[in-house]
Amino acid sequence: MTITRRNTEQGMAAAGETGASGGLGGLMRRYIGFSPIPMSKRSQQLESRIQGAQVATSVCPYCAVGCSQLVYHRDGKIIDIEGNPDSPINNGHLCPKGAATYQLVNNPNRPTKVLYRAPRSDHWEERPLAWAMDHIAQRVKEARDKDFVMNDDNGERINRLESVGSIGGATLDNEENYLMLKLFRNLGVVHITNQARI
Ligand code: SF4
Repeated sequence: MTITRRNTEQGMAAAGETGASGGLGGLMRRYIGFSPIPMSKRSQQLESRIQGAQVATSVCPYCAVGCSQLVYHRDGKIIDIEGNPDSPINNGHLCPKGAATYQLVNNPNRPTKVLYRAPRSDHWEERPLAWAMDHIAQRVKEARDKDFVMNDDNGERINRLESVGSIGGATLDNEENYLMLKLFRNLGVVHITNQARI
């Protein structure tokens, strides 16, 4: 309060005013901001960055709390991610990690290639993601053809593949986990785990 009064007095002095002109109403309008339109023209023309954007509901990929997020997108690009106020879990809030989800998608440091070290090699090589996908699929097929066990020693049907395993990470959401379980269970894989289990 003291600071405000001092600043006001300094402002009046700088303008060469005594405070008498215009009376109390004039002073209030001038110094307290009772102007009918206190925004500049530029401010009035500004829009929210999510104005007119489409929105999709999603789940924070980081931990098992499963906070709901609103993902705003325009022209096929994500432009903002915020907490979903309709969610009973987070009520519109996100922790600092969840609030930074936007940077998970839009980030120049995000790796877009994989590092591959060939058998018995002593160095890593950069390979495209599509190459890695094909390579993994090929290896899984080879392992399944070789190791799939249809019946156990007693003749019971088990349809089991124990030489392939799946380890998921915390950035997998529930839809991705569902698809992974479906894929690997159908292959007969029994060693499946994931960090968050949401
Ligand atoms: S916002 Fe934070 S608490 Fe919520 S799911 Fe994401 S990481 Fe977990």
